[in-house]
Amino acid sequence: MRRNVVIGNWKMNGSVASVTTLVKKIIARGFGEKADCFLCPSFVHVKLVSDILNNSSSNIELGAQDLSEQIEGAFTGEVSGEMLSDLGAGLVLVGHSERRQRFDEKNYLVAEKYKAARAVGLIPVLCVGETQIERENGETEKVVGQQLRVIVEECGSELMKGSIVAYEPIWAIGTGLTATPEQAQAVHGFLRETLSECSSALADETRLIYGGSVKADNATQLFEQRDIDGALIGGASLDAEQFLSIWESAER
Ligand code: PEP
Repeated sequence: MRRNVVIGNWKMNGSVASVTTLVKKIIARGFGEKADCFLCPSFVHVKLVSDILNNSSSNIELGAQDLSEQIEGAFTGEVSGEMLSDLGAGLVLVGHSERRQRFDEKNYLVAEKYKAARAVGLIPVLCVGETQIERENGETEKVVGQQLRVIVEECGSELMKGSIVAYEPIWAIGTGLTATPEQAQAVHGFLRETLSECSSALADETRLIYGGSVKADNATQLFEQRDIDGALIGGASLDAEQFLSIWESAER
């Protein structure tokens, strides 16, 4: 039985004051009996959030938005998996579309980052998704299938165990457009089928989550879909009420 999971991706937002307030509001009303919750602040706020979570009795967990594919050394500006893990992070996003598009991260680099996360015990959240044009051209399955297969082939089925795959149609990220529950389910079903090429246990166990303008008012319908096991939430995760409401929907 897969447990739902909600992950807040705060991107490059917040100050010490606003992040402190946001975490405290989420902790104050947190749920967590049936659905896990991870918060992914910017790198500079990871320690702050880690300390607040550690000083609470909350079961909210810490995540990060990216990591270096390198272990350590002369890589100015980079942050290693070990550093994140040292601060208490349990999970890290890899291959977010903003990294792929704006920082030109290719599948090969995403696979290296995936392995770097695994090497230090971080749960990688592999993000896959198609552009509007690719969807219009009927290439959604081809694109997301390739993004997933590259990782499975590079890393092997052992390293896939316990990871999370996030389907995030690029046209729905930060645009206010959401895939319909049926559109999202169709791609999630396809991703699960793709994982079953590796093993049926892997397909059954892997949590597949949806991302792309998830809000309090569309979360329930998305979570009702058979193959959707939670959400990766950008904009709405910066609003404690919205985020808590999405988390509450994932608990049902
Ligand atoms: C994201 O960037 O992962 C995301 C899903 O953003 P938003 O919820 O704002 O569309």
